[in-house]
Amino acid sequence: MKTSEIIVTLVALIAIGVTSFFAYRYEQQREMAGMCPFCDRMVHSVTAYRLMIDGHEMAACCPRCGMHAQVNQEKGKPGKAWATDVNTGESVAAESATYVEGGEIQYCTHGNQPVTHEPNGVSVREYDRCLPTLAAFKTPQEAEVYQQQHGGRVLSYTEALDSVRKQ
Ligand SMILES: [Zn+2]
Repeated sequence: MKTSEIIVTLVALIAIGVTSFFAYRYEQQREMAGMCPFCDRMVHSVTAYRLMIDGHEMAACCPRCGMHAQVNQEKGKPGKAWATDVNTGESVAAESATYVEGGEIQYCTHGNQPVTHEPNGVSVREYDRCLPTLAAFKTPQEAEVYQQQHGGRVLSYTEALDSVRKQ
């Protein structure tokens, strides 16, 4: 092998090494970023609710989970928040988004068996901080379309916070 060939081979090997190292790091970070810090569920890209807490940005799994953190000041003082438009994945300032509460699609708890207990023979679902579901929308019109398809009720940001405060 000529010296130049050896150099080319070495450079190629280093490049592969560096690339896979960063790919691995990226995967790790992505995994870390993929868990909700409030309930340890996966954060789905369509329902993520980002909020500033003590100046740090955190991503909650869904608006309801994030609003619980805001209302109860979990993990610190909450600042600005952003919801994700379910239809487009676009980030929307939380206070300007419109929400549908209690639609039939359960994003966070999807696939989980509902936890129920039966006082007096009536099956009642255990408390779940992500339920009833809050889905966020960029416009009230989109929220209404969703509500017509999946049920639930249309709420403003303030109304959604009020509802979270009560349950
Ligand atoms: Zn959560």
